[in-house]
Amino acid sequence: MEDRTPAAGDQEPPLRGRGARPGFATRAIHEADHAGQIAEQPVSPPIWLTSDYLYEGLDHYADVISGRRAGYVYGRYGNPTHVALHNVLASLEEAESAWSFASGMAAVHTSLTSLLAAGDHLVAQRTLYGGSYSLFTTVFPRYGIEVTFADAESAAVSAAIRPSTRVVLIETLANPTFRVADLRGIASVCVDRGVALVVDNTVATPYLLRPLELPGVTLVLHSTSKYIGGHSDVIGGVVAGDRGRIEGIRRLAVDQGATAGSFEAWLTLRGVQTLSMRMARQCETALILAQALSSSPAVKTVGYCGLPGHGDHGRASRLFGGRGYGAMLSLELDEGFAAAARACEALRVARVGSSFGGLHTQVCHPATTSHRQLPPEERSAAGIVDGLLRVAVGGEDADDLVPDFIQALEKA
Ligand SMILES: *Cc1c(COP(=O)(O)O)cnc(C)c1O
Repeated sequence: MEDRTPAAGDQEPPLRGRGARPGFATRAIHEADHAGQIAEQPVSPPIWLTSDYLYEGLDHYADVISGRRAGYVYGRYGNPTHVALHNVLASLEEAESAWSFASGMAAVHTSLTSLLAAGDHLVAQRTLYGGSYSLFTTVFPRYGIEVTFADAESAAVSAAIRPSTRVVLIETLANPTFRVADLRGIASVCVDRGVALVVDNTVATPYLLRPLELPGVTLVLHSTSKYIGGHSDVIGGVVAGDRGRIEGIRRLAVDQGATAGSFEAWLTLRGVQTLSMRMARQCETALILAQALSSSPAVKTVGYCGLPGHGDHGRASRLFGGRGYGAMLSLELDEGFAAAARACEALRVARVGSSFGGLHTQVCHPATTSHRQLPPEERSAAGIVDGLLRVAVGGEDADDLVPDFIQALEKA
């Protein structure tokens, strides 16, 4: 079986006829290989709390630090806890290699600066994570890197590409409108024009989509603070791609100093083991909630690509292979900010919260919070209107969440 739900009627062969390769959920639990020197491997990889290492002599140290011999040097260069995390995340993203960071923003920063220099141009998706927007508009210009924002459609991206364009950055599922990028079309534009394509796959997660399987995708990155960590207890980031590029990113990351702490790497390793169980459940609940709220009189539109009437439903079904449609949705209320605020205050199970990807259902108002950095005209071009609420569905029972939203929207 591929990493996809079999079509109806498919007989799943005993022991899964996939050759020697285990499935996504199995790999999420087993592929955190940790370099152990003992015969009895611990089930949970140790947290390596050491900043430095001891050597047999000068040659040993010189060989390791110069890369002639495999080994460890210093905490900022990574330790075996990080290697375990890189192994599992590379496997889940179908990549040769991966590197982790102290935050998702460090992953965005280091990945993009590994591909861009002064005089280069970046095309980024218009509906962009607020932190990435701020980095590209306040920091990059000081280093001579220009940015153009475009819709995540192949024609718009193609029109924005210039001779100096080196990178296109796309978010698979755009927070907070949850429109689905035309990833296949954009990847083929990037191949034709010789431009690197970086995909921020934070919201879709590798459970739904592995962008590196598409020809033309150069790197895939995540804020592991969200679904990969999954428990609202850790900040981190990761980038995955081919060995050569990740080696370049590793060198840059060592110089930039954005290595994750060991405990954070370990928490992320702990969280990723249940990614497929959490995503399956959270996507299922999100669909139930989206269906229930689409008939609420207070709601103008439900932004959820799992609804058959949604404009991106067909594209999402092809990209995500029917495994689900994500665990986040947007609600546009008829009566703008005041109604949104009243509804949020009336919620009892879900709560107003600052992030997503954990097990607590959280709601936020993007125009005044996560996307406040966008100027008003950029914000409305991106579809982030005053009546828009973002809902990140957690692990609670649908039977508790649906009535909670319905009673809250009655007060909107
Ligand atoms: C949260 C987020 C980031 C930034 O990650 P941090 O871990 O908060 O630094 C980047 N991209 C997307 C899509 C995110 O949701």
